[in-house]
Amino acid sequence: MKKIRVLVVDDAPFTHRAIAKALPGDFFEICGVARNGREGIKMYAELAPDVVTMDVTMPVLDGLAAAKEILTADASAKIIMLTARGDEELVTAAKNLGIDVFLQKPFKPGQLVTAIQKICRKE
Ligand SMILES: [Mg+2]
Repeated sequence: MKKIRVLVVDDAPFTHRAIAKALPGDFFEICGVARNGREGIKMYAELAPDVVTMDVTMPVLDGLAAAKEILTADASAKIIMLTARGDEELVTAAKNLGIDVFLQKPFKPGQLVTAIQKICRKE
């Protein structure tokens, strides 16, 4: 079976480790780790991942701006907002971009797998 390739965009090494731990290597491959939104946009174009986990609060360029740019270039991009922020303002802003899969930090490993499966089923 083809592994699901995941691009992680997050400035926190702790989250990189948590995501790596949550995703069984038989089914998932972390194809790249970007530490800010600008890097995330560049790596998305280079790597064409199946799924992106997108933090919101990051240096250089935040996750909402990065998600907007990625979706402008590729309307079929599958982006999960993975953030400690769960406020209405953020949820509304993300939904306006067409993003409706959210995962709040700290997450349980199974929640991340479920979120990825959910977003992969959508076209
Ligand atoms: Mg952050």
